[in-house]
Amino acid sequence: MSSNKISFEDSLVPKVIESGNCISCGACVVSCPFSCLDYAEGKPNLIKECQICGICARVCPRYEWWLAEAENFAFGRKRKPEEKYGVCRRLLIAQAKDNKVLKVCQDGGITTALLLFALEKKIIDGAVVSGIDLKRPFYPIPKLATSSEELLKAAGTRYSCSPNILALSEVVKQKKSNVAFVGTPCQIHALRRMQMAGLKKLTRPLKFLIGLMCSESFNYEGLMKNHIQEKLGINLRNIKKINIKGKMLVTTDTEVTAIPLKEVKQYARTSCYICEDFSSELADISVGGLGLNEWTFTIIRSEKGEELISNAETAGFINTKPVEEGAFALRLLKKLTLKKKTPSTHL
Ligand SMILES: Cc1cc2nc3c(=O)[nH]c(=O)nc-3n(C[C@H](O)[C@H](O)[C@H](O)COP(=O)(O)OP(=O)(O)OC[C@H]3O[C@@H](n4cnc5c(N)ncnc54)[C@H](O)[C@@H]3O)c2cc1C
Ligand code: SF4
Ligand code: SF4
Ligand code: SF4
Repeated sequence: MSSNKISFEDSLVPKVIESGNCISCGACVVSCPFSCLDYAEGKPNLIKECQICGICARVCPRYEWWLAEAENFAFGRKRKPEEKYGVCRRLLIAQAKDNKVLKVCQDGGITTALLLFALEKKIIDGAVVSGIDLKRPFYPIPKLATSSEELLKAAGTRYSCSPNILALSEVVKQKKSNVAFVGTPCQIHALRRMQMAGLKKLTRPLKFLIGLMCSESFNYEGLMKNHIQEKLGINLRNIKKINIKGKMLVTTDTEVTAIPLKEVKQYARTSCYICEDFSSELADISVGGLGLNEWTFTIIRSEKGEELISNAETAGFINTKPVEEGAFALRLLKKLTLKKKTPSTHL
């Protein structure tokens, strides 16, 4: 890894922010040891004189990125040629057992069920997830959840960027020592960079990383306000769920409106255009819907991921099925992985 001491203005500003490649992860903001950066309107901003330590550039996954190095760091080995969707110990299809989870989750609720299990068994004392902004429906905000109620409230998917890494400041402030992290593939990249840069205060509490599969995330104003609210006339406060199953499905109490994906793609964030990771290839456990109904497609990548899933299953928190029962989802995983790694077909 580069040890260059380079300023924020000479590194991230031209190469990541002005070029439109910033994924708004917030890793640079929480990592600056001199608190020189704040986060506003999805971007880091310099608020006092940069001390030219180069740390923000070292943690930014869009400044420099070496997949093989990050893979070795996370799993102790590089992927085998046949592991097209990243290092993999086991594939399965899983579902939460608790009806409280199934009522509020996005797919099979495996993410929330694993967090509830880990919290109840005191494996973690909190989880970084995406919370709800009460003023703006479906606007995601970073959240450190420390109770089952908070985890249940945070379940489900908001398809805009939630800079969950910013909540690591809260983890430090509240002196939490064992936390789980849920985030998109790009956020998992940033966390691995922070771990590799040796930022112990921020990363030591991280016990396991759950990565969401992700084709793209959408600009909130464009998708939610301009398209769903204004063009389609759907009151955002009446929406119960938004999911993507071939089309974007917007569910209210009274109807389900299907929006063709080609109509919503125009709102995809520009920083997603160059993203090559569909399945959160550096997470301990990766989860996605992949066209399944009420089940979550799950990739176990690390030993701690394996231990968590096995223990949650034994304790009766989740049900699992062999991946063979979701053969079409596995085909879709392979297709979407390849699509993201082929620049011309990517969004
Ligand atoms: C932007 C985005 C795009 C996605 N695209 C795909 C896709 O193309 N194909 C696919 O198969 N799956 C995709 N997913 C993943 C899918 O929507 C589900 O999150 C996943 O299947 C897990 O379902 P679950 O029922 O286990 O999760 P749940 O138990 O419902 O838990 C979901 C967790 O995700 C967190 N979360 C919600 N929104 C965000 C956000 N914006 N950023 C970070 N964390 C968040 C919640 O706080 C919660 O902890 C996407 C998710 C996001 C956030
Ligand atoms: S981490 Fe902070 S002080 Fe260091 S280069 Fe970046 S902005 Fe400047
Ligand atoms: S670390 Fe994240 S928020 Fe900061 S410049 Fe890089 S991509 Fe943007
Ligand atoms: S497509 Fe890539 S860059 Fe965009 S939100 Fe998903 S993981 Fe992040």
